[in-house]
Amino acid sequence: MENIWSSWNGNIRHSYENLFFPDTENEIVKIVKNAQKLRVVGTGKSSADIAAGTSTLVSLEKYNQILSIDHKSHRITVQSGILLKTLLQEMEKNGLAFPALPDIDDITVGGAIATGTHGTGKNAQSLSEYIVALKMVNASGEIDTIQSGDPALGAYKISLGLLGVITEITFQCIPRKVMSISERPMKDDLWLAAYKRMLQENDFLRILWLPHTGYGYVITGNYVNENERVLEKKGPWYYSYRRAVSKFLYQKAIKKPARIVTANKILKKLFFSKEQQKFGSLYDATVTKSRGSTLELAEWTVDIDRFDTLFFQLKKELNNKTNNAFVHIPMDVRFMKAETGWLANGLGKNIVTMGCVTRNAEEANHYKAFELVENLFLEHDGRPHWAKRFQCGRKVLNRLYPNWQNFVELRQKRDPEGKFLNAYLEKIFI
Ligand SMILES: Cc1cc2nc3c(=O)[nH]c(=O)nc-3n(C[C@H](O)[C@H](O)[C@H](O)COP(=O)(O)OP(=O)(O)OC[C@H]3O[C@@H](n4cnc5c(N)ncnc54)[C@H](O)[C@@H]3O)c2cc1C
Repeated sequence: MENIWSSWNGNIRHSYENLFFPDTENEIVKIVKNAQKLRVVGTGKSSADIAAGTSTLVSLEKYNQILSIDHKSHRITVQSGILLKTLLQEMEKNGLAFPALPDIDDITVGGAIATGTHGTGKNAQSLSEYIVALKMVNASGEIDTIQSGDPALGAYKISLGLLGVITEITFQCIPRKVMSISERPMKDDLWLAAYKRMLQENDFLRILWLPHTGYGYVITGNYVNENERVLEKKGPWYYSYRRAVSKFLYQKAIKKPARIVTANKILKKLFFSKEQQKFGSLYDATVTKSRGSTLELAEWTVDIDRFDTLFFQLKKELNNKTNNAFVHIPMDVRFMKAETGWLANGLGKNIVTMGCVTRNAEEANHYKAFELVENLFLEHDGRPHWAKRFQCGRKVLNRLYPNWQNFVELRQKRDPEGKFLNAYLEKIFI
């Protein structure tokens, strides 16, 4: 019987010959030496076809230990197969934190850093930007160590598994703090006029934009002292059913996408109309811990100075009924500071990121919004999230990333036989 690997929502499926579960670096070295074509698979949450598609697959789910914690320098070293949630829970216990976190914790740390997984906020950058050292098994099966200060670190921070199998990672953390978080709906013209100021005035800012309703749901947060605990004000009991209700409503819209407009209005009224107040660490108070249904995701990023113009165009296009690009809510608007990773969305510039999702993952190929959003962001030199769905190819990416050619040459030098390439990555990087 054929072995089949499948992504979490079943949209990507590949056959494979061998799937290994090493728990030591030596085993990883042996597997890499013996394989002709190899990819590391994490939890398979990426919508882009970047995880499998080779004869040999390696899961690092048993290579998942915390190796050391340096309390003085706030550094933590882990094996790359560790789940982000295990790492974050351990960091919480040890009084450590990251300055920003993605809205998912059920992913591997290796998968998160390979793809530029990120959060939002005044000082937010992707998790890769907090790497100060990493170890990697290269295509010949040798172990390379890359430390901060090495000019090449920028290439390895976000490398889609193309430069080798990352084994150990040391992160620079910050001391754990608590945050007071406020959430409320705001009319589009109000949040648009205020988001730059809100970004200056708050440590955390996230806007869940609600297309076809005229509103965004604005979440701001600030670090406070433990004794400044605010009284939490949570939404009604039925809030925990938001994803299930959304899925139900959007399934009804498959045949007539215009029904999405009504679905969005219902969802806004039910789930995004009340003020809420939360208190806790960034991890406790802002990260979704479980999801009732699968999604298919795209996410685009743009220079913050170009966001306003882009947003007006986007809103106009989405409201134009003739193009049938009605969008499921929310579209997640997040903010990041400039980064140094060669393939970082935020390389050299402060950016706004914007998510676009469909809850009907199996219908993703017919979801018109993906194409519309991509075309608009590309008009503004936007860059796509590596783990998510996009169509543009290497010519466009070459134009968008100043270090593109350097990365392509480094990849070729480190892996001349293309051991770490699958068909999708080959199209982009060869
Ligand atoms: C519901 C949902 C919410 C999300 N929220 C966010 C968010 O808030 N912010 C954000 O930025 N992203 C987000 N993502 C994207 C997600 O973070 C990425 O898809 C991430 O890569 C998933 O990790 P994974 O373990 O599933 O990796 P996989 O998808 O299995 O693999 C991703 C890539 O990492 C490579 N890889 C994994 N481990 C290693 C290793 N040790 N060495 C070399 N390469 C390796 C794989 O080969 C592959 O190329 C979200 C995705 C979903 C489905």
